[in-house]
Amino acid sequence: MIANKDTIKKDFAGKVKSMFGKNIEEASSLQKYEALADLIRDYSSINWSKTNSQYKANNEKQVYYFSMEFLIGRLLKSNLYNLGIEEECRVALKELGIKLEEIEEQELDAGLGNGGLGRLAACFLDSMASLGIPGHGCGIRYKYGLFEQKIVNGYQIEIPDNWLKEPNPWEVRKDNKAVVVKLGGRVIENYENGYLKFTYENYQGIKAVPYDIPIIGYDNKTVNTLRLWSAEALEEEEAVNLNLISRGEYFKALEDKASVESISQVLYPDDSKIEGKLLRLKQQYFFVSAGVQSIIRSYKSKKNHINDLYKYVAIHINDTHPSLAVPELMRILIDEEGLEWDKAFEITNKTISYTNHTIMAEAMEKWQVDMFKGILPRIYMIVQEINRRFVEDLKVKYKMEQGKINKMSIINENHIKMANLAIVGGYSVNGVARLHTEILKKRELKDFYELYPEKFNNKTNGITHRRWLLEANPSLSKLICSTIGTEWIKKPEELINLKKYSRDAAFQDRAAEIKKKNKIEFSKEIKDRYGVEINPYSIFDVQVKRLHEYKRQILNLFNIINLYFKLKENPNLDIVPRTFFFAAKASPSYLLAKEIIKLITTVQYKINNDRSIKDKIKVLFLENYGVSLAEKIIPCADISEQISTASKEASGTGNMKFMMNGAITLATLDGANVEIREAVGEENIIIFGLNADEVMNYERYGGYNSKEIFNRDPIINKIVNSLINGYFQVPNCEFINIYKHLIDKNDEYFIFKDFHFYVNAQEKAEALYKNYNKWKEMSVINIAHSGRFSSDKTIENYSKEIWNTRKVNII
Ligand SMILES: *Cc1c(COP(=O)(O)O)cnc(C)c1O
Repeated sequence: MIANKDTIKKDFAGKVKSMFGKNIEEASSLQKYEALADLIRDYSSINWSKTNSQYKANNEKQVYYFSMEFLIGRLLKSNLYNLGIEEECRVALKELGIKLEEIEEQELDAGLGNGGLGRLAACFLDSMASLGIPGHGCGIRYKYGLFEQKIVNGYQIEIPDNWLKEPNPWEVRKDNKAVVVKLGGRVIENYENGYLKFTYENYQGIKAVPYDIPIIGYDNKTVNTLRLWSAEALEEEEAVNLNLISRGEYFKALEDKASVESISQVLYPDDSKIEGKLLRLKQQYFFVSAGVQSIIRSYKSKKNHINDLYKYVAIHINDTHPSLAVPELMRILIDEEGLEWDKAFEITNKTISYTNHTIMAEAMEKWQVDMFKGILPRIYMIVQEINRRFVEDLKVKYKMEQGKINKMSIINENHIKMANLAIVGGYSVNGVARLHTEILKKRELKDFYELYPEKFNNKTNGITHRRWLLEANPSLSKLICSTIGTEWIKKPEELINLKKYSRDAAFQDRAAEIKKKNKIEFSKEIKDRYGVEINPYSIFDVQVKRLHEYKRQILNLFNIINLYFKLKENPNLDIVPRTFFFAAKASPSYLLAKEIIKLITTVQYKINNDRSIKDKIKVLFLENYGVSLAEKIIPCADISEQISTASKEASGTGNMKFMMNGAITLATLDGANVEIREAVGEENIIIFGLNADEVMNYERYGGYNSKEIFNRDPIINKIVNSLINGYFQVPNCEFINIYKHLIDKNDEYFIFKDFHFYVNAQEKAEALYKNYNKWKEMSVINIAHSGRFSSDKTIENYSKEIWNTRKVNII
């Protein structure tokens, strides 16, 4: 063990003293947090440098996971667990009169991501380190993470997330590893010894400074690195050396400082919807260029030949945001390493692999050529040449017709299509759930699949069961350990051994007791924080995720409104009391999503203040959804709402966290829900609604008319009208856009079509809950089968089937 109780006590006191010049009793909670975190980083630093030097000495293949987002959340607790000293630390602090939880609550949640995509990257880091795979993250050190959400008068208000206002104890600034990233300027071509050479002039040089965060493996000695890049203005001296400014232009350099630093200033708050903003393109090139440069530098220090790069380095890009890695690696190989085009392309192609996250048109990245060319003149030349050769091949080698070529072309209609670039430039393309990958192959990327069938593969997403079960639900974890042992923590598939206990009344009861206890505790917290009374004995029905039309929070809400109408008609209706929880951030520019938040809070106000329905249902919108809130609410959930329009949710990962904590999934056959059903069996999940083929058929051939349903169906009519007829005592225009989308824009997400199926599914859920023994059994079966959704499994597959990396035992 890295430290025992007594060393922790002594070291902690020493830290508080040296950092703040205080005794423990005099230190604030925040100072205690800073001191403890600093101490834990010290403890991990020996293995951190050991890991680095061993990777270097063994010349092991390294994976670099490039992602514009890492939604890592708090680190203190997970680091304590992974180092195996959580218990010792808890006891040590207790003996000093300090509660560990209170210190943990001081940590600001690192929200450097929007939702599922960024959280996936964070889970992958944990799994790579815990499996001993040499894998590192590469991203941006945003000064401001995803905005903090407050609800004021029922509306979302965004507050900047100044998460670095206190020093971040986990990061280490590495000045000696800084690199320069070049934007704008001109490319000069001249012949040198018969070779065409490219140099750049009049560009803007940006200093990229890495901040490294240790990623500590669970109960091994591996400590990998998450490297986040920060943009800074070059010092005058550096700029002069690069001939960027002549002496005396110092003030101009200072003027540029603010514009340079804006590059890593803030995370774009868009989820599944991309705006082609100039600054975002700069962000993408900035971290990709810095990352690739630092990889090459470190690779060359090992004295391997540049032609062998792909044998020692795998670069994986999380969605298309980092796909400039393709032309950037080409640029370095050609302009700096002096390779010929064909060799450079072969190496690049064998080094880069890509994960597709979505098929929704509004999330497919493309950049206007003029804008792109202006900021990245050399990169544009390279993209053009990659495309010229690709298109030539399609024409000459494959005799393809022009229409198809235009669709596949990387540059078309004055735009650069990033997915096409990533597919052509890399050797692997994967979807994130079986259904999603099939849709990619059959529809969205059909032409590419036919051209390169060998590149396509599926890697169903996963979540780290250590954060989402072991740490988020310690009582359940203890019960599992005392029942089937502790092997599951390293081998999540061992959770299947719980299956034997699914009909064991004693085990069922203990698991159900834990859920109840979690609910009671959470209810107390809600009462303390918001003054809202909730019934901990009601069914906790939970939909927490980003707010998006395709995720269909409206469908959930329409069932609630319908239930409320029924209760108004018959207040003695025999239903199990239920609390409907929502939590969701809406992108600040996504006005319809914000309107939906206002609708939820409006319904909440009406229902929660209506005494006549005898508290049978309650609605609660929890503000500021993020990793920390997810960790609290998921262990309390009875029902997990996964109700996206089939074919729209690529995978989902929230669904996996819920099942792992014993919630029953109420879902459409979308994303990984399909595989959850396969794992637990049809009788242990509640499925409803149109399937993906049906949805896609309507989309292709028409035949769905929402207005017709609205006119014909009295229940839907009444619900929808209540939005605009003053029923909720808000101005009639408040929800007019929701109304218009449903009626005039033909209900793009099939809310009406699925509504009655959903109501039936909810009734089925209630009937199952009333048969409580059956419900408890279902719950245990869900936990037992959740191991296959651990990101350890997912990462094993990436490692074997895409990256070809080996595990390294750090000694
Ligand atoms: C898991 C997670 C998500 C993804 O949830 P989905 O239901 O899959 O959309 C989003 N945000 C946070 C904070 C998460 O922890």
